[in-house]
Amino acid sequence: MTAYPYETHDYDVVVVGAGGAGLRATLGMAEQGLRTACVTKVFPTRSHTVAAQGGIAASLGNMGPDSWQWHMFDTVKGSDWLGDMDTMEYVAREAPKAVYELEHYGVPFSRTEEGKIYQRPFGGHTTEYGEGVPVQRVCAAADRTGHAMLHTLYGQSLKNNAEFFIEYFALDLIMSEDGQCQGVVAWKLDDGTMHVFNAKMTVLATGGYGRAYFNCTSAHTCTGDGGGMVARAGLPLQDMEFVQFHPTGIFGPGMLITEGARGEGGYLTNSEGERFMERYAPTFKDLASRDVVSRCMTLEIREGRGVGPNKDHIHLNLSHLPAEMLAERLPGISESAKIFAGVDVTREPIPVLPTVHYNMGGIPTNYWGEVLHPAKDDPDRVVPGLMAAGEAACASLHGANRLGANSLIDLVVLGRAASIRAGQVVDAGAANPVLNPAAIDRAFDRFDSLRHAKGDTATADLRLEMQRTMQNDAAVFRTDKSLKDGVGKMGAVAARMSDLKVTDRSLVWNSDLMETLELANLMPNALATINGAEARKESRGAHAHEDYPERDDKTWRKHTIAHVDGAKVTLSYRPVHTEPLTKHEDGGIDPKRIAPKKRVY
Ligand SMILES: Cc1cc2nc3c(=O)[nH]c(=O)nc-3n(C[C@H](O)[C@H](O)[C@H](O)COP(=O)(O)OP(=O)(O)OC[C@H]3O[C@@H](n4cnc5c(N)ncnc54)[C@H](O)[C@@H]3O)c2cc1C
Repeated sequence: MTAYPYETHDYDVVVVGAGGAGLRATLGMAEQGLRTACVTKVFPTRSHTVAAQGGIAASLGNMGPDSWQWHMFDTVKGSDWLGDMDTMEYVAREAPKAVYELEHYGVPFSRTEEGKIYQRPFGGHTTEYGEGVPVQRVCAAADRTGHAMLHTLYGQSLKNNAEFFIEYFALDLIMSEDGQCQGVVAWKLDDGTMHVFNAKMTVLATGGYGRAYFNCTSAHTCTGDGGGMVARAGLPLQDMEFVQFHPTGIFGPGMLITEGARGEGGYLTNSEGERFMERYAPTFKDLASRDVVSRCMTLEIREGRGVGPNKDHIHLNLSHLPAEMLAERLPGISESAKIFAGVDVTREPIPVLPTVHYNMGGIPTNYWGEVLHPAKDDPDRVVPGLMAAGEAACASLHGANRLGANSLIDLVVLGRAASIRAGQVVDAGAANPVLNPAAIDRAFDRFDSLRHAKGDTATADLRLEMQRTMQNDAAVFRTDKSLKDGVGKMGAVAARMSDLKVTDRSLVWNSDLMETLELANLMPNALATINGAEARKESRGAHAHEDYPERDDKTWRKHTIAHVDGAKVTLSYRPVHTEPLTKHEDGGIDPKRIAPKKRVY
């Protein structure tokens, strides 16, 4: 056993993560007078949410008719019928309220002539239950929507006396012997001290794990730390095989060009200059949903119609759009295209390629953010004292494929829902749970063994092997062979965690150790992803299986539950929630509308 001295902090709630989800939960908790700590490894406004460009979906109807029922339908169809209907209704219904709340908190949205919040079209968002024209549903602050949201939510959280612990790296959950979460252990990066946060409610809002792949749009900090902590606590991850490839990452560096670029009229072309999406998705063309567009681009390249000397990417054209419009609505991506591709968007097309962008899977929760640990007789069993929100969680709003602009709305609606629920279940007057010393010891033991790791494999080398394996074998298109190979290779990569070598043993700003801890978190996320994918013998949403090209609702309309213990993955399944919250006769969506059918755009 390794003793590290530590300081204990008592709160009603500790939120881990200060991205959109963490800040919205923190703000909601603090507004109700709960003593709230927000622990974050990066400065709040540097969380990956800052990079969100295109916008946030809500059926405000500022630019034409829209309704929450249409938004719900699009989300159900986008999810390829894997999302939970109760969550999908809750988010679509609450979305307008949550956006007006953001407006009142101070988010500087772009405006229409009459001063209303400006809304743009986005892939998969339609009118008339998919039978009408694309809808303008996505509220935007130019192409810097996430940036605007984070700054506003951080300011509001401070105003409501939430306390921030910035550049503290959460290591592990503290679980009682009977399975209640009591808080987290954290390492303060800038002075090397250790901290124990004791709370009645812990909220994991640690973001996605895009960095399990070689090419992704997400920040280097997106290492699935919440998923790692949950796996080590013996709790499962859900639907991890569903990884979204965004159609338009800049070819090479992978920086994102928002779907808003196509929303504003941009289109894709192949080496023959053909607008090929018209062939695959005659109605919605370049605004079909992301999984569909990414597959079509991959097919064009495979069939020899890619652009460039190696015919290995696609062109995104914006130069037909007025230069003033590009400067006003898409200034950020115009700049990215210049810096990262050397392209002037008013004159030339941008070279793009599908790039890993979002994790539909994560820590299973209900729509109140409560973490689930399914039992045989209770697939919706709640873990006391533990919540998750944002990309780290799987509520399941997005099912097998997320629609653009539905993540930012997920963060604020479900971050807010978590705070509403915490207000109901947390007794602010009660004493905090008595900490389980064994759980704290285990966290320090693990930390210490990685700190002193003296094997032969450098962290960066093992990470690269993991990233290449995932990129090659759990890609846009998957086969029995690629997945089987991938499972074998990832098992071998994970087994080498015990051979890691950390060269810096200090506790202050030790980035070698921090990256090693992050790799230890990425690993269970990657393992659950590839094992879940190998087991799922169908194609659904982002999981395109060439040996099973059809969706199979009879066998596979169910959530994958993965327990990861070291390199070992055990899979089970839990039912999808097929009932919306509101009955049709009470104003809810017509069940016939959301019954499974073939997904065409
Ligand atoms: C380039 C890009 C553009 C996007 N554009 C859009 C868009 O226009 N619309 C849309 O809806 N979605 C968009 N998305 C998706 C969306 O932005 C993300 O899914 C979302 O921002 C994730 O928010 P989050 O709060 O869950 O996590 P993040 O914003 O990633 O924040 C995670 C937080 O957790 C903290 N953290 C993590 N691990 C630890 C640890 N061990 N200890 C302490 N703290 C920790 C970090 O410090 C950070 O504060 C985009 C994504 C990318 C990558």
